[in-house]
Amino acid sequence: MIEGMLCDLDGVVYRAHEPCDGAVEGLARARAAGVRVLFMTNNASRSPEDVAAQLTDLGVPADPQDVLTASEVAAEELASTRPDLLASGAVLAVGGPGVAAALQAAGFHVLVPPDLADADRRAGVPPIGAVVQGYGPRVGVADLAEAAYAITAGALWVATNDDPTLPTERGQAPGNGSLVMAVAHATGASPVVVGKPHRPAYDVALRRLGLPPEATLMVGDRLDTDIAGARAAGLRSALVLTGVSTRAEADAAPHEQRPDRVADTILDLSDLWRAA
Ligand SMILES: [Mg+2]
Repeated sequence: MIEGMLCDLDGVVYRAHEPCDGAVEGLARARAAGVRVLFMTNNASRSPEDVAAQLTDLGVPADPQDVLTASEVAAEELASTRPDLLASGAVLAVGGPGVAAALQAAGFHVLVPPDLADADRRAGVPPIGAVVQGYGPRVGVADLAEAAYAITAGALWVATNDDPTLPTERGQAPGNGSLVMAVAHATGASPVVVGKPHRPAYDVALRRLGLPPEATLMVGDRLDTDIAGARAAGLRSALVLTGVSTRAEADAAPHEQRPDRVADTILDLSDLWRAA
C-alpha cells in the first residue's frame, strides 16, 4: 500500500513553465486518496518557498514543507554527520541563494565567497569546516577558487548533486556536476554527493514524510537518477514518460534502473491509490 510519493519536478510536474500532461489532475487524485506528496528536486539554487509558489501557480497547491531541495538535503546531512559545525566554525556556501538559505535554516554559521574576498574580511571569519557546493547561475571562477582553497585546507566537501548538465532552451549547459569536476580536478579531492541518485536524498525525504521505503513511491522521468536511486534505497518506483527517459529505454534498462511501473503521466498511476 502506497502512503507517500516522492515526486520529481522537471519532466514530471512541469516542463519549462507549463504543467506536464496529467500532472495537475494526477497529483490532486493521489492527494485526495490520502497519499502524502513530497516534491524532490536536485535544483539547489532555488528556495523551497520559490518552488512551492511556482507549483501553486501551476495548479498544484504546495507549501515550502512539501518541497525538498538538494540544498536542504546537504544541510541536513551535514548537521547529522558534523554536529560540531553547528556549535563552532563556518560552512562556505558556493552556489545560488538556495544553498546558503538552507544552511542558515539548519543553524550553521554560513559564509559566501565575497566574505573571503580580501585579507581584512578573511581575518574576521571563523575557520571553514565544510564547503557545500550547489548550482547557481552566477557561480564563477572566483567562487570555485574559494571552494578549492577551503577543501585543500581540510574542509569537508559536500555537493548537492552531480548532474553533469542542465537543460536549457538552447541545449545542455554545464550543471553542478561539471562545476564540481572543476574543483575536483584542481584539488584532487572528491565530494560527498547527496542529491538523487545518491542515498541521502531518499533518506532525508523519507524522514520528512515519516514513512518507510516500502510504503513510498518515487515518481520520476529519469532512469539513471530518479529510478536508480529509488531502487537502491528500497523504494517502489514509477517512470512517467513526460520527460527525459522513454518506454524503450525503460524496457532495455539494467535491473538496477528498471522501474516497477511505466506510465504515460502521473494520472495514469491513479489505480495505485484506488487500490490503497
Ligand atoms: Mg526530472
